[in-house]
Amino acid sequence: MGKINIAIDGPAGAGKSTVAKAIANKLGIIHLDTGTMYRAAALAALRKGVSPLDEEAVAAMLPIDIDVQYKEGAQRVLLEGEDVTEAIREHAISQAASDISRIKQVRLMLAELQRKIAEKNDVVMDGRDIGTFVLPGADYKFYLTAAPEVRAKRRLNQLKEMDQNGDYEEILKSIIARDENDIKREFAPLKKAEDAILIDSTYMSVEEVVQTILSEIK
Ligand code: C5P
Repeated sequence: MGKINIAIDGPAGAGKSTVAKAIANKLGIIHLDTGTMYRAAALAALRKGVSPLDEEAVAAMLPIDIDVQYKEGAQRVLLEGEDVTEAIREHAISQAASDISRIKQVRLMLAELQRKIAEKNDVVMDGRDIGTFVLPGADYKFYLTAAPEVRAKRRLNQLKEMDQNGDYEEILKSIIARDENDIKREFAPLKKAEDAILIDSTYMSVEEVVQTILSEIK
């Protein structure tokens, strides 16, 4: 029997991962945050002193040894066997991930890994190109967005919860820059799949978004 595949795409800071994790918990299936894989690829490049914008040098690094494991239901990302789940959350990695994600060979490598996971598992997968490129045949597709100002505020609150400081204007600028990068890239850009359900969460709570998605899933 085929596995249940649920795709959630959308721009940076729309709450995809929080929502995807909650849906996966409710359904008792796994959650794959594909952004973590681009982040791990970016970390690999930075550690080797390779610019994530240098297509030739990045291509020469491939394949990068990236793997995903689940510990007590939570996703961990491994780079060359090392658990980098926390290390990839650094601010500098966000922009580097956005840069490296423009490189087609990197996308092809990671998409293959993502498809393998979806073949073997019931999964809620979140990213930018899941419904359009990675899993065009997904059972359910959602496109989650929100106004950039609201996304920046949510990021700032997340940082505060982790006792970290952030500057609102800087976060907003970085969100807008990453949106641009994601929408304008040539290969598998950020785009709502035609058959995806659009959810604008600007005025919605996490719980409302989760309920909206669950009500669509039979
Ligand atoms: O979702 P997150 O912000 O962690 O993703 C980091 C970067 O990885 C994004 O800015 C985006 O450019 C890239 N990405 C992507 N395709 C995906 C997931 C993430 O291009 N499926």
